[in-house]
Amino acid sequence: MSKLKIAELFYSVQGEGRYMGVPSVFLRTFGCNFKCAGFGMPRGELSTEAEELGEVAHLYSKYEDLPLVSTGCDSYASWHPDFKNLSPVLTTDAIVERIMEILPHGEWRDEHLVITGGEPLLGWQRAYPDLLSHPKMQGLKEITFETNGTQEISEEFASYLHTWAHHHEHNFWREITFSVSAKLPCSGEKWEEAILPKVVCDYEEYGTAYLKFVIATEQDFADAECAIAAYRTAGFEGHVYLMPVGGVETVYAMNNRNVALLAMKHGLRYSDRLQVPLFKNEWGT
Ligand code: SF4
Repeated sequence: MSKLKIAELFYSVQGEGRYMGVPSVFLRTFGCNFKCAGFGMPRGELSTEAEELGEVAHLYSKYEDLPLVSTGCDSYASWHPDFKNLSPVLTTDAIVERIMEILPHGEWRDEHLVITGGEPLLGWQRAYPDLLSHPKMQGLKEITFETNGTQEISEEFASYLHTWAHHHEHNFWREITFSVSAKLPCSGEKWEEAILPKVVCDYEEYGTAYLKFVIATEQDFADAECAIAAYRTAGFEGHVYLMPVGGVETVYAMNNRNVALLAMKHGLRYSDRLQVPLFKNEWGT
């Protein structure tokens, strides 16, 4: 039986992208290949908030108690090594039992599963077949991987996803979505490591893929346009969303309307981040 290191497992409303408003189970795996310390910082500068919190990580025993940050990655504890003790390693059976406990009817009905991170398409790809093949997971019809779009799907996992998409026994099709939050230079990550069009084009072979860009400034939008051109040139056909920056409400409220107007002006989709106004982006939402 496979195991996963789980940063969070909770039930909420999907706040972003295609499934905005859909009741969803969020499985947040531990680990990321990026740090995104540039978010919310002047260009060229990197946030030290996560590092500073890491130095006092021993003061926190639960995710719910962790402070929110206004710069850098808002889910820092899902990859920062200083917080790894908050993320247990669980068998897929134990994860399924926990999912059944948090689903309102103790079984899958209209809810959707979001596998997020960190970066959920790192080595954890090996464990998902065990998780998704569990008898109690057979009612699940829709799944989203929230990825930064840098990780290729392994051959084994690709072939599993093809099988998973068609439930032979009950003869229904399942929906697989890749919500790709590609990291622009405002994240602090390098373009050549973050914008990998071929990887994202490949996702379209296994399900629906869309791009989601976090926008704070006009420069971010100019960067997004360059990235969109690169993805389109590589053959990417999916939708593109613009989403306001802001893990904390004050920052979000300053630019959500501007980003919506920008999306309208360019004929792109707008994604809110409902978890901020609804739940203040607390851990577990
Ligand atoms: S890719 Fe996502 S989880 Fe990883 S550091 Fe960036 S924002 Fe955080």
